[in-house]
Amino acid sequence: MERTLIKDLKENIGKEVLLKGWVSEIRDLSKVKFVIFQDRTGDIQSVANKTTEEASFNLISDLTKESVVEVIGTVKEHPESKWGFEVLIKSISVIAAAETPLPIDPSEKSQTHIDKRIDYRFLDLHSKRTQSIFRVQSTILQGFREFMYREGAMEVALPSIIGASSEGGTDLFQISYFEKHALLSQSCQLYKQMLACSMEKIFTVFTVWRAEKHNTVRHLNESRQFDYEEAFADDKKVMEVLGRCVQFIVKTVAEDRKKDLETLGVTLKVPETKYMTFEEIKQLMATEKVEMSEHDLSGEAEKKLGELYPDTVVFVHEWPIDGKPFYIMPSGKNSKGFDAIWQGMEITSGGQRVHDPVLLQERLQAHNLELDVFKDYIDSFRYGAPPHAGWGLGLERLTMLMLGLDNIREAVLFPRDRDRLTP
Ligand code: ATP
Ligand code: MG
Repeated sequence: MERTLIKDLKENIGKEVLLKGWVSEIRDLSKVKFVIFQDRTGDIQSVANKTTEEASFNLISDLTKESVVEVIGTVKEHPESKWGFEVLIKSISVIAAAETPLPIDPSEKSQTHIDKRIDYRFLDLHSKRTQSIFRVQSTILQGFREFMYREGAMEVALPSIIGASSEGGTDLFQISYFEKHALLSQSCQLYKQMLACSMEKIFTVFTVWRAEKHNTVRHLNESRQFDYEEAFADDKKVMEVLGRCVQFIVKTVAEDRKKDLETLGVTLKVPETKYMTFEEIKQLMATEKVEMSEHDLSGEAEKKLGELYPDTVVFVHEWPIDGKPFYIMPSGKNSKGFDAIWQGMEITSGGQRVHDPVLLQERLQAHNLELDVFKDYIDSFRYGAPPHAGWGLGLERLTMLMLGLDNIREAVLFPRDRDRLTP
């Protein structure tokens, strides 16, 4: 007999089916016993009574929660239940028993702290809520790729072990590499630029490592980024692409993940876009009495933007050159760098890049960075490098903000943070 998925039960009313899944609830009323179990497509109540095979009927009293069972039974209408039908058990057997007590409670009633849940992530992944978060994240990944293919961009795979820092500034993890000393990549900046300067339009889903010691609810030490880079483009062009990209991803999740959004209690609205210069933001924040520096947005300023412009991706552009990395193109006293803020937090940094080797050297010097270290990078622009621009969008940050999660650790399967290397 072939396995039926729980989502297909309503097409099988009156028929005998074979189901497999994880037990979430057992109610033993001695003459009649109920087992609620779930598979990847949903959950269902099954019921055992005097028509059930005796061994199976007895077995239910010893069942443990989260055990994996195989049920053979008949689908019956049952209008009073929340499903509208149930499965009358003919036989039930245990495929894999769960030991007791469970180290954490994966049921909806659970109030277990996030740290403990991640300690037992394998079991936390039995929880409907956790499953819904990562099904949404899967659709975010799919939406990003689909959008990019439609844009005519090509996906590339880039290295994570690098010989020298590609950005300067951020702390990097050091690793030993045979006789040499190497680093874990904190961005794929150099590589995506090289690719744009040949293949024109590229994207990648890239893991980055940042050895920053901060321990916040919005930072991880290992995170994933959606990176995009386009030749013959400026900051305006790639902001426009980013706006449509976020809209496409949100729309895809809203359409394809209705059930998961319901489980998570989230109503999604496709965001609008709004463009503001850094100068305009400064004036706005002065009016709103929110402090910020001369060349960077404060966390409070980002939060304020979220309050003033809900459901809007705010592009803060014409950023002061002092607030951006050396590879961002200067523009008068400002730059062609930007940040995108959504729901009160930065989701993306991007901009037009410096593609002229002479200007690049000047910019490196202005940042007190050694030219020697960046020789290969500078040289890559000597043989036909067009103007280009791009951005990096944090996957976990996006997931967190889309679902209104209060800690970025909820939005990553196996977080790497200041204190955590396992599981
Ligand atoms: P922030 O100012 O929020 O610390 P950043 O400016 O250092 O971020 P970028 O280097 O601009 O980050 O990275 C691009 C995007 O990647 C960010 O906008 C954010 O969405 C995400 N991101 C950056 N750092 C982290 C991190 N430590 N953990 C999770 N996501 C991150
Ligand atoms: Mg940034």
